[in-house]
Amino acid sequence: MLNIYEIVIGLEVHVELDTQSKMFCPCANRFGATPNTNVCPVCLGLPGSLPVLNEHTLVLALQAALALNCRVNPFSRFARKNYFYPDLPKAYQISQYELPLAGSGCLELFKDGEPARKVNIERLHLEEDAGKLLHDESHAFSHVDYNRCGVPLIEIVTNPDLRSPAETRLFLEALRRMLLYARVSDCKMEEGSLRCDANISLRPHGTKELGQKVEIKNMNSFKAVQRGLEYEVERQAAILNQGGRINQETRRWHEDKGVTSEMRTKEKDHDYRYFPEPDLPPLVVDAALLSKIRSNMPELPEFRYRRFTADYALSHYQAGIIISDPYLADFFEETTKLNNQPQKVANWLLGDVLKLLKQVDTDIETLPFKPSHLAELLMLIDGGKISGRTAKEVLEESFSAGKLPAEIVAEKGLGQISDTNELEQVVDDVLKKNSAAVRDHQEGKKNAFTFLVGSVMKATRGKANPVIVTALLQGKLDGSKQ
Ligand SMILES: [Zn+2]
Repeated sequence: MLNIYEIVIGLEVHVELDTQSKMFCPCANRFGATPNTNVCPVCLGLPGSLPVLNEHTLVLALQAALALNCRVNPFSRFARKNYFYPDLPKAYQISQYELPLAGSGCLELFKDGEPARKVNIERLHLEEDAGKLLHDESHAFSHVDYNRCGVPLIEIVTNPDLRSPAETRLFLEALRRMLLYARVSDCKMEEGSLRCDANISLRPHGTKELGQKVEIKNMNSFKAVQRGLEYEVERQAAILNQGGRINQETRRWHEDKGVTSEMRTKEKDHDYRYFPEPDLPPLVVDAALLSKIRSNMPELPEFRYRRFTADYALSHYQAGIIISDPYLADFFEETTKLNNQPQKVANWLLGDVLKLLKQVDTDIETLPFKPSHLAELLMLIDGGKISGRTAKEVLEESFSAGKLPAEIVAEKGLGQISDTNELEQVVDDVLKKNSAAVRDHQEGKKNAFTFLVGSVMKATRGKANPVIVTALLQGKLDGSKQ
């Protein structure tokens, strides 16, 4: 039944900008501070206080607009959005309404490095964040934290171009990646610096008119967005199939129960009594400012992808994963600059390093393990100082403690044994103790040789240089044949 309907999804994404101070006052913009410590008369909305725009807010918003291929309006205006809620002490939010900062943008979704789907962006505007309500578990009262009041946000509104919950998730991942590359926000959904509301409706395939849309809120991860939308598709289809009508409403996603429930009937724009903000001048972005921002733009993901596949001969698969996180891409490039072996760096990053990162559930940029550590580790392997097996052990320790690999090798006596005399004694000893395996080898059993190499490695606790061990064993066994 479901496939008689076309799914239509549009998004409203709020992104906190990574500025030092808030949008209209000098208070710190910092997540996790003691409640109500980063506040002042401006962000508390005390009478007589006046907002002054933090210029860096505008710079970051313009970087985001350019990264999303938006047309920047040379003249835009702040507006008051009036509503009453305890986390908004002014009783209005400074936002932008009929004249937003930018519009007519788009974001391409890529597949194997080729553009596969274009999602249009209707508008990108600036606004301030509200505070945060913390509901007491007893439900007897709520606390309010105004630290987030006045934190700069951009709101990105897409056209209703998305056609499935899975595609919506892909879009959000691409959007997050683009904003990380544009260096405008840390985009941490778990800390609320990227938040997403979705509008979803169904219509019979082949019809042009949009169905009644429903807004879904409270989806706190990309996975939750996909699940919430999947649930909503089923819910709306069931109503339509029975000849029912979809109500215009806002619904809340409940992650634990896996359902949406009615939150409120959706406000219309006129409910907010928008009017131009009288305390702030119009926002003018002249050509000089825009070209300055354009020339200072950080490198965006598709350029990096092309450069990594062309300059470093990475496969589409390798480049795809490495560029998915700009800090991982930086790590790759810095390590490669130090040792000039892109394939080896990529293999270690995509293998052991990503595995360890997953285990500790952290971001690569906050690790004490730096590109110089990985470069040194690779140098120790190439120089025959440590075996591949030892290298994994050294990596693990360097990873968590940030100690240099050479230091760990010296302290723990992990250096590879390449001294031929020392190894010859071990080899002789192994041959003496394993006469049966020597006989097997002479009778042409292939496994016997591998077993003897393994025995030498075991006797040296993995530290013997395998190339020398192999040569020594071959020499001795061939010699004894004659
Ligand atoms: Zn303040």
